[in-house]
Amino acid sequence: MKIGIFANDNRRSQEVKRQLEIKFHERHIVMDNQDPDIVITIGGDGTLLSAYHHYIENLAKIRFVGVHTGHLGFYTDWRDDEIDDLVVSLQSDNGQAVSYPLLDVTVQYTDHKIEHYLALNEATLRRIGSTMVTDVYIGGELFERFRGDGLCVSTPTGSTAYNKSLGGAIIHPDLEALQLAEICSLNNRVFRTLSSPMIIAPNDWITLVPGKGSDFLLTIDSDSYHNKSVARILFKVSKKRIYFAKYRHNEFWRRVKDAFIGDDYGD
Ligand code: NAD
Repeated sequence: MKIGIFANDNRRSQEVKRQLEIKFHERHIVMDNQDPDIVITIGGDGTLLSAYHHYIENLAKIRFVGVHTGHLGFYTDWRDDEIDDLVVSLQSDNGQAVSYPLLDVTVQYTDHKIEHYLALNEATLRRIGSTMVTDVYIGGELFERFRGDGLCVSTPTGSTAYNKSLGGAIIHPDLEALQLAEICSLNNRVFRTLSSPMIIAPNDWITLVPGKGSDFLLTIDSDSYHNKSVARILFKVSKKRIYFAKYRHNEFWRRVKDAFIGDDYGD
């Protein structure tokens, strides 16, 4: 079993990385950042997202483990003072894994070029300078003409990220669903949108067909692509998944509670 380490530049993350390298060396654990079986990320959710995109071609064979050096993250459930326990878990690894759904995004540009992306959290299409007008199709049927700042399509694990700030629901990652959430829709007597987040079934798909414009902003997780002339975008649940090494059970709703509610209920 070969281990890769992917750390952010933060001083504490680099320190934890050095400590892990020493422990691996002492225990003859093989390190390989080129062709790893397990990738340990050290930092925050952003670091895990970067590692995911770095190793995106090898998702089927890699299991991720997230160590956080800041506050508890959604993909990073090992504290940086638990690395001794992590090393013991790695030494007794028997391939245990948990996997989560990913979002498949196909963008067709007005020059007919086609690009594919695979998002772990979400993809958004936005227009900054003027209203984004976009026809929204669900499963090939025209559903509505959206006007506003943009639209966000998220995965279940991404439902606690940008989607949550947009008022979207939190979806348990055992459900293979996509969520469509609006970003500042225009609603009045003339223009109407559903104005509620929608949960899309795994056998359905979402298509956005924007009106004319060459100034769309497309985001895929932390990456942004500016000034794009988008003809249409298709979103569906990917056949690929992301795998995490499951050395201990961190129940999803407990994680949501720890991140957003805490134990202090006030008076
Ligand atoms: P970042 O790495 O600084 O992350 C921003 C915050 O989002 C961090 O607190 C991180 O812990 C949290 N986060 C990331 N993924 C999460 C998840 N699945 N569940 C709960 N929290 C999560 O910022 P970045 O690298 O620019 O973007 C990474 C992600 O940040 C994006 O995929 C997006 O979901 C999120 N984001 C959220 C908002 C918002 O809520 N208004 C705005 C921009 C980006």
